[in-house]
Amino acid sequence: MTAKHPEIQSKVQKIHKLYYNGGLQGCGGADKNIEDLKPCPPAGAKGRKPWTNQKIVAGPIGLLIQQINRNAAVLDCTENDFVIRKHREVDISILKTPWQFLGHQIEETAKRCRDQTNAEARTLLENHKCEIDHESLKKAYAKHSEDDQQWLRHYANLGIWDDRKLATFNQDNEGKCSYCGAEKGTAVHLALFCPHFKEERFRGDDELQQVNLAKLPAPMKLGMPVHNMLNDDERL
Ligand SMILES: [Zn+2]
Repeated sequence: MTAKHPEIQSKVQKIHKLYYNGGLQGCGGADKNIEDLKPCPPAGAKGRKPWTNQKIVAGPIGLLIQQINRNAAVLDCTENDFVIRKHREVDISILKTPWQFLGHQIEETAKRCRDQTNAEARTLLENHKCEIDHESLKKAYAKHSEDDQQWLRHYANLGIWDDRKLATFNQDNEGKCSYCGAEKGTAVHLALFCPHFKEERFRGDDELQQVNLAKLPAPMKLGMPVHNMLNDDERL
């Protein structure tokens, strides 16, 4: 907005100041402690109360500040230079970043935030600290048929109705694997560990047997590559 209409920049700064003085969460100053900021859980998840009880905003700048805050970041305007500040991330200047890169940079930050929230909320993700390599994931999916891609996404999104999930509303199901009787009939168990599918699992890729699947980081167990934790160690 300010790139196309630089004449309104001072107006935007005034609006930010009004929100800052009014105590809107997400308005940052140099003194703002960004280390303790938490990302907002997704709609329908527990723990959204601190975000739903926020002050009411009246316009695009207020909404922008709120959205930034929901991604565990603040919009800092102390130097009259709108900078998105987030713990352990490079500052993003809204006014100085070339606009063709700005959207991508912010999207990546939001993705990292979403992945962090999911890791903390979903048991199968084991509270991992990895950074998911979305670019490699996209390239890997492109090598599969449409149908297979759908299944892979379904599995990676924890959308499989495995025995453990079915047991939450079916009293006859104890949550054990219905193929081998293992204690935890999870989707990861079915895909990587269930002895019933051993032959199918390694068909076409014998080398896969040499990988210690149990030691893989949680996202990789769900078929998602990660940037870190791929050292030459006992896992591979
Ligand atoms: Zn099994």
